Amino acid sequence: MSIAENFNKIKRDIPPDVKLIAVTKTRRLNEIMEVYHAGHKTFGENRVQEMTKKHEQLPKDIEWHLIGHLQTNKVKYIAPFVSLIHSVDSLKLLQEIDKQAIKNNRIIPCLLEMFIASEETKFGLDFEEAEALLESKELTTLKNIEIKGIMGMASNTPDESQVKKEFASLFQFFNTLKQKYGNHKLETLSMGMSSDYKIAIEAGSTMVRIGSAVFR
Ligand SMILES: *Cc1c(COP(=O)(O)O)cnc(C)c1O
Repeated sequence: MSIAENFNKIKRDIPPDVKLIAVTKTRRLNEIMEVYHAGHKTFGENRVQEMTKKHEQLPKDIEWHLIGHLQTNKVKYIAPFVSLIHSVDSLKLLQEIDKQAIKNNRIIPCLLEMFIASEETKFGLDFEEAEALLESKELTTLKNIEIKGIMGMASNTPDESQVKKEFASLFQFFNTLKQKYGNHKLETLSMGMSSDYKIAIEAGSTMVRIGSAVFR
């Protein structure tokens, strides 16, 4: 199957109210353009330098999502154009995003990255840390960021029941946050990748990030 056919097949699998982010990391421009020509304009990258380069070289109506770990000193490179940052894991990072958003005279939407996997290597906040962040006084002073929801990655395991359990806990936490923090417009639950997006959607995902299944 061609990339466009792969993409269309996945697109058909996904309910219309779940947003698909086509993850373009390591992909060449002509591969990305195949998906673009299939009518898709929402792409995700996990590295700042890659994303900045691709943003420069590809059509300007593409929405770019930063899905990988973000260092404070790199926020300035993506602040002019990024559509959504999925990987916020500290107040310090949010403060820098706000500062750069002000410089660019815009509001930057963000998700809090949650740690739900059993592996030690993944980034993210635990439930307590996320609530502490949402309740912090400092957050109320940041006018040029918007926290739109949360993102999480399940363990990389063939054990589907484990993955299901992790997504279910994130969904439950998302609902708790929506009830407790109505002042934020929490509407996005970003969970699900190539290997587990069907499980994630069943568990309540509103946004999936799919790379290898599209570009294989
Ligand atoms: C690479 C990546 C994805 C997509 O992974 P695939 O398995 O290729 O679908 C999703 N989310 C994050 C944070 C990633 O780094």
